Amino acid sequence: MRLISYATETGSRVAGRRGDYYVDLNLADPELPPTMRELLRLGPAGLDRARAAVQAGQPLEPRSLRLLAPVPDPEKVICIGLNYADHAAESRLPTPTEPVVFNKFPTAVTGHQSPILLPAISDQVDYEAELVVVIGTGGRDIPESQAMQHVAGYTCGHDVSARDWQLHKSSGQWLLGKTFDTFAPMGPYLVTVDEVGDAGALEVRLRLNGQTLQHSNTSQLIFPIAHLVHYVSRVCTLKPGDVLFTGTPPGVGMARKPRIFLKPGDLVEVEIEKLGVLANPVIEHQA
Ligand code: ZN
Repeated sequence: MRLISYATETGSRVAGRRGDYYVDLNLADPELPPTMRELLRLGPAGLDRARAAVQAGQPLEPRSLRLLAPVPDPEKVICIGLNYADHAAESRLPTPTEPVVFNKFPTAVTGHQSPILLPAISDQVDYEAELVVVIGTGGRDIPESQAMQHVAGYTCGHDVSARDWQLHKSSGQWLLGKTFDTFAPMGPYLVTVDEVGDAGALEVRLRLNGQTLQHSNTSQLIFPIAHLVHYVSRVCTLKPGDVLFTGTPPGVGMARKPRIFLKPGDLVEVEIEKLGVLANPVIEHQA
């Protein structure tokens, strides 16, 4: 099942895809909640009920839909750094022996086709294509053997990164460089686990203005998804709708000669097998 969140005057609502259309779950079945996080809180039974609603409900007018990130308001945006060995090498950093974990604030989240805003105070904004894991059932101290039961689905993510702020300011603490507003595009859909199958074998691509700059496969992840869910959950309780960026493959702009950074007018596309294409134009942030 493919689920989206879309914008309305009264807030975000969740809908499921049927053919070329979307069906608002709560309009189709008033027992289902209107938002993605509330739906995920219902667990697998909620998703089963959503599947039935998608088949039964009236389609929405597609032209009127403005997509948000599948989870527009996650409690936590957890990110893994250096999770592809060849990206660690191009970053001139050692291959990690434990996951490198950092975060973005929820204010960085944005959706498919919404602009990435280039801050005036950075001139080194870089791109990173990433598989994003969406947590369904929450939990603490989740054993690795049960970790996949806590995953509701996956979406395409873009870990936009201001390298000057990430690496040279704030004493090298990554947070600020990673969490400017709009630096966490996700979408277009949350694809549920049953439709994805093995998320450890998905092609990942990033195109800048049509040119492929990153291409790898999630089979190259140093720490697989189950280990990441287990590892983070030993520290903090995972909640329904929390999102986990799993790290980027090689080919980022700062490692190229000459270096490539995003500029106004660019179009960045993250394409992940079975998950669709997340496209975002790049514009200047007007303070
Ligand atoms: Zn990243």
